[in-house]
Amino acid sequence: LPNEFEMARPVLQTIESAGFEAYFVGGSVRDTILGLPIHDVDIAASAYPAEIKELFKRTVDTGIEHGTVMVLDHGNGYEVTTFRTESGYQDYRRPDQVTFIRSLDEDLKRRDFTINALAMREDGEVIDLFNGLTDLKRRLIRAVGDANVRFNEDALRMMRAVRFASKLDFSIDPDTMSAITTHSHLLAKIAVERIYTEFVKMMMGSKPRLGLQDMCNTKMIDYVPEFKNYLPGIKKIIALPEFRLKNEFQVWGLISFSFGLNHKQISELLKRWKAANQTIEATQKIVTALRELVAHGLNSMTLFNTGQSLLGDTMGVARALNISVDETKVMQRYDQLPIKNVHELAINGGDLIKAGVLKPGPELGRILKQLQSVVINGELNNDQPTLLEHARVILSHERKGE
Ligand code: ATP
Ligand code: MG
Repeated sequence: LPNEFEMARPVLQTIESAGFEAYFVGGSVRDTILGLPIHDVDIAASAYPAEIKELFKRTVDTGIEHGTVMVLDHGNGYEVTTFRTESGYQDYRRPDQVTFIRSLDEDLKRRDFTINALAMREDGEVIDLFNGLTDLKRRLIRAVGDANVRFNEDALRMMRAVRFASKLDFSIDPDTMSAITTHSHLLAKIAVERIYTEFVKMMMGSKPRLGLQDMCNTKMIDYVPEFKNYLPGIKKIIALPEFRLKNEFQVWGLISFSFGLNHKQISELLKRWKAANQTIEATQKIVTALRELVAHGLNSMTLFNTGQSLLGDTMGVARALNISVDETKVMQRYDQLPIKNVHELAINGGDLIKAGVLKPGPELGRILKQLQSVVINGELNNDQPTLLEHARVILSHERKGE
């Protein structure tokens, strides 16, 4: 067993020696059998949250209404979730009503796909009620039970099918696929935030182009924010050679560039997707940098504005888009910028006021921006006397109305 499981074994043993059942479940079991690295280890148990809390010294109520308690053990945190069924699905959304149960079978039955419905005992024995192991071998995403019923219960599962197909480079079982096509319109009922998470993970998987193709074939693409207005852009991405993206900034950078969006349109699209402001700004910077790369190469000001980390992301997207760039040279030019951030400018607002060049007020920021830009473009050295003098020159020209 991988180290993550070995570390968690005492937690399972503690639960079991109190007379309950406990298993590893979910993605970590699936990924271990596939030989993939795992991040978090999820545990399912017959004990109720209060019973779990009595067994361990340190726990955190991370989602107690859903039956989840985080157990802290030797510096690691494990989510222990009570076996449960979900009932009363309304509006095609995940129910907020869960019933705690004592049977593992019922808990596995509510899970989305056969490969996600495996459980593993503390000794490594796998419980496989729905032929998940066969599906892992055949590389198939197949709904647990009747796919039509399962997508009616929770329409997000359709996006999850595409997400896992892309992540693992699996196919979607034909019955499951046709149920998605039948029910794709139900995606419109799902909170955008939940679609966002699955979509970004899909795009960061190993076969994002197949994921997009599946979204087109099943018409899911029509029920996620805005995409149906940009089908030529989607087609362009599908037609790219195989690529791999590292984070959500790269995902939205690639999409916005392929859709041909300007700053305002990027912000409009991503607001519909309920993206964080930080994501919107990062995407705008990446797209600006990509456009300059294609047009005439990056200028120094853009290197500065983009910053090292997003420049790295930009290079990644450029690679995905098959834009040829000398990445080493770009990063070298960045390293050689006279300043990397505002604070490295040899002068600040206080200095300008002390020297009697300007009074406090909005003018200050404007002048500092100009000084910053002459330094970044290499027109003047970054030293205080030079910049003070330049500030005086700018202001006297302006006051003469030049
Ligand atoms: P990842 O490695 O990306 O975390 P995961 O399989 O752990 O993959 P999660 O979204 O973390 O995926 O969900 C954990 C488990 O909970 C899944 O493996 C599945 O068994 C179950 N699950 C999650 N979401 C749903 C859902 N909408 N419907 C049914 N079961 C679900
Ligand atoms: Mg998980």
